[in-house]
Amino acid sequence: AFLSKPVASMGTEETYIMVKPDGVHRCLVGEIISRFEKKGFLLKGLKLFQCPKDLAQEHYKDLKEKSFYPSLIDYITSGPVVCMAWEGAGVVASARKLIGATNPLQAEPGTIRGDLAVQTGRNVVHGSDSPENGKREIALWFKEGELCQWVPAQAPWLIE
Ligand code: GDP
Ligand code: MG
Repeated sequence: AFLSKPVASMGTEETYIMVKPDGVHRCLVGEIISRFEKKGFLLKGLKLFQCPKDLAQEHYKDLKEKSFYPSLIDYITSGPVVCMAWEGAGVVASARKLIGATNPLQAEPGTIRGDLAVQTGRNVVHGSDSPENGKREIALWFKEGELCQWVPAQAPWLIE
């Protein structure tokens, strides 16, 4: 009875997480997915994707005036990325903690960037910075049929 109790939702907040091309080339895809999976968030969408330039520009439009913007666009479009949509109460801020500071040398050990990277320009992973941007970015990177609504079997062991 306990296990078949309906679990309505893991929470309505969503975040867009992306393994950047350096993470794909360095074979860190499984490791990075695993950090979010083990934490207990819900995977809603996942794909390997070659990002076109116009999408990279739209995604990073707030950074258009920065000196590093052209190299950032080159970096993100240089090879495949792994796009993910994750759901859960508080997932946006929690994912940012799991990812760590933008500069990997300042990122705490135990975080993805703290453990796996050395430079801001090669910081292996992206995470949305607000629930609004989580929604915006998931809509930008995924088509409607690419997202799944489902309840994982372990849900009653994650959420009381
Ligand atoms: P994030 O939210 O932690 O990813 O950081 P930002 O939103 O501030 O910047 C987006 C991405 O732009 C970062 O993850 C880096 O890949 C890149 N970036 C930010 N600042 C710099 C910088 O000073 N130099 C370079 N080369 N890249 C940067
Ligand atoms: Mg950002």
